[in-house]
Amino acid sequence: MNLILMGLPGAGKGTQAEKIVEKYDIPHISTGDMFRSAIKEGTQLGQEAKSYMDQGDLVPDEVTIGIVKERLSKPDCSKGFLLDGFPRTVAQADALENLLDELNTKLDYVLHVQVPEEKLVDRLTGRRICPECGATYHVEFNPPKVEGVCDHDGATLIQREDDQPETVKNRLSVNMEQAKPLLDFYSQKGYLVEVNGDQDINLVFEQIDEKIGGLAK
Ligand SMILES: [Zn+2]
Repeated sequence: MNLILMGLPGAGKGTQAEKIVEKYDIPHISTGDMFRSAIKEGTQLGQEAKSYMDQGDLVPDEVTIGIVKERLSKPDCSKGFLLDGFPRTVAQADALENLLDELNTKLDYVLHVQVPEEKLVDRLTGRRICPECGATYHVEFNPPKVEGVCDHDGATLIQREDDQPETVKNRLSVNMEQAKPLLDFYSQKGYLVEVNGDQDINLVFEQIDEKIGGLAK
């Protein structure tokens, strides 16, 4: 089962990824993990990627795609994979098609976990941090015992700059603009599966499981 998981920040991709990986016994391959392990293993491509990252530059597509190829060629991908965070552009999606051709396989589904933007803003702006001990809370999903106060040390909780509504809205709209051409690309190719992420996490997974389950090998 070869899958790509897409969704905006806050859509609950991480939780669904865990469930998919467990049920379908395929590795969860996130871009960050892939870069970290290539760098740690000291592969040629890992070293190249590191030299760009150290300078604060974007890693060029040919290096990224090379790293994806190395990763997808590993034995644990023989049953498939769940890609998360790659591809990000249509050019990368094209390259992935070619790469899968070379590896004699193809994509099965691109899962798009959809949550209305207002809900995402609520989810993403609800986080509160303790400046003393670093504990994180969420006003709705994981509230402290006393509003605005850390359970551990009584410190006043703060909202990080990253979690302020304007910052969150900006981040979401940048992400949406980036995702749009990619979603169109996969929709035209017939891979796209829309998943309603605006419900209980178990129901979201049931939906995914129903839609892709027929293909499980
Ligand atoms: Zn604290």
